[in-house]
Amino acid sequence: MGKRLYAVIGLGRFGGSICKELSREGMEVLAIDNDEEKVNEFKEVASHAVIADSTDEIALRDLGFRNIDHVIVAIGDNVHASILTTLIVKELGISTITVKAQNDYHEKVLEKIGADEIVHPERDMGRRIAHSIISSNILDYLELSDEHSVVEVKAGDRMDGETIIDLDIRARFGCNVVAIKRGKDINVSPMADDVIEKGDIIIVIGSDKDIHRFEKALV
Ligand code: ATP
Ligand code: ATP
Ligand code: CA
Repeated sequence: MGKRLYAVIGLGRFGGSICKELSREGMEVLAIDNDEEKVNEFKEVASHAVIADSTDEIALRDLGFRNIDHVIVAIGDNVHASILTTLIVKELGISTITVKAQNDYHEKVLEKIGADEIVHPERDMGRRIAHSIISSNILDYLELSDEHSVVEVKAGDRMDGETIIDLDIRARFGCNVVAIKRGKDINVSPMADDVIEKGDIIIVIGSDKDIHRFEKALV
C-alpha cells in the first residue's frame, strides 16, 4: 500500500493549519488555493502548492486528483464555492472528503451531496472555550450529538477521596465515568469503588442536561 495522499483546498487560517500539521507529521499534501499569495506561503510547507480554482472540474482533473485519498475542503465564506467543490471532488471518486461548514444549511447540503465528515471549527471551539470559561476545572468538552457530550474535568475538593459509588454519579446525574487519568496512568474501566483524588482528570459521558447537573454539583 502506498502512502496516503491528501489535498487541502482553501489555505485560510483553518485549511492552512491542517496543511501545516499534516506536513509536519510527514504526510504528503497537495495545497490548493485560487489566491497566488496564499499558495506562495505554502510552497515551502506542503509537498506541492498550486494555484487553482477548485470549482473548475478540469483544473482538478489536470492536477491528478483521482490519486488523492482524502480531500479537505476548507473554503469558508463562499458557501457556493464550497458546495460546488465538494460535489466535483465527490464525482471524481475521492474516497474520503472532509468539509468545513459555515452554518447549518450549508451542513445539510454537504450531507446530501455525500461529504464524509463535516466540521464546524468556529462553533465547536466557541462551545469548548465557553465551557472552560464557566469553570477552570472543565478542561475539555466534545460534542457527540446534538444532545450528548463528553467532558474532561479536573477533580477538586468535592470529589477528593470519594469513590464513584460514594458520589453516586450514575444514579444522581445519569452520566457515566468512562476514564480516570492520574498523571501518566489512565484507568479506562473505572470500578464503582475506585477512589478519585484531587487533581485526577475525570472523563464523563452523558446528555448535555445531565452533564450540566454533574458539573454544577461536583466540578
Ligand atoms: P479562515 O479559515 O481563515 O477563517 P474562512 O473560513 O473565512 O477562512 P475563506 O477565507 O472564505 O474562509 O476561504 C479560505 C481560503 O479558500 C481562502 O484562502 C480563499 O482564497 C480560498 N478559496 C476560496 N474559493 C476558492 C476556490 N474556488 N478555489 C480555491 N480556493 C478558494
Ligand atoms: P469568524 O469567527 O466568523 O471567523 P473572524 O475571526 O473572521 O470571524 P471578524 O468577522 O472580523 O472575525 O469579526 C468577528 C465579529 O466581530 C464580527 O461580527 C464583527 O462585526 C465584530 N467586530 C469587529 N470589530 C468590532 C468592534 N470594533 N467592535 C465590536 N464588534 C466588532
Ligand atoms: Ca473565518
